[in-house]
Amino acid sequence: MALGVDYAAQQCSVARTLEVVGSRWTLLIVRDCFFGVRRFSDLREHLGVSRAVLAERLAQLVDDGVLVRVPSGGREAYDLTAKGLALWPVVVALLAWGDEFSAPDGPRRLFSHAACGTDLDRAGACPACGTSPSPYDVEMRPGPGSRGPQGPGKVSAALQERRRLLESI
Ligand SMILES: [Zn+2]
Repeated sequence: MALGVDYAAQQCSVARTLEVVGSRWTLLIVRDCFFGVRRFSDLREHLGVSRAVLAERLAQLVDDGVLVRVPSGGREAYDLTAKGLALWPVVVALLAWGDEFSAPDGPRRLFSHAACGTDLDRAGACPACGTSPSPYDVEMRPGPGSRGPQGPGKVSAALQERRRLLESI
């Protein structure tokens, strides 16, 4: 039997979730949206993905209700919907796993609770407040594993600063 191209026949919710965010680049697009990257040209520059693939993935994420297209300064931008924002714990878990097993120099980015300044734990919770802050209430800054800007563009430069998640770059 040939392998299918999707997981549509799978009953488990892991498979259902991967139907939405399991394509190459998809979760990186979602991650960048949390980081405040909202425009097609900025996503393309930061991810280094082809126009065709980015357009296809964005259209799929809009179709799946993860992103919504919004007008922004005469152009289009993409915002996370409530369904998209609910992927924050997924992004946190992938970051934590990568930091533990694939970051010999330490985390590339550090995250803190904006309200109190305490670094979040690996589950995305604030140890001082005993809460898991919404991504709107999280600040990000380069960590010990950061090797400086990833490229020459404005997104890479912006991500070298301490900044609030979801604040438009
Ligand atoms: Zn706190």
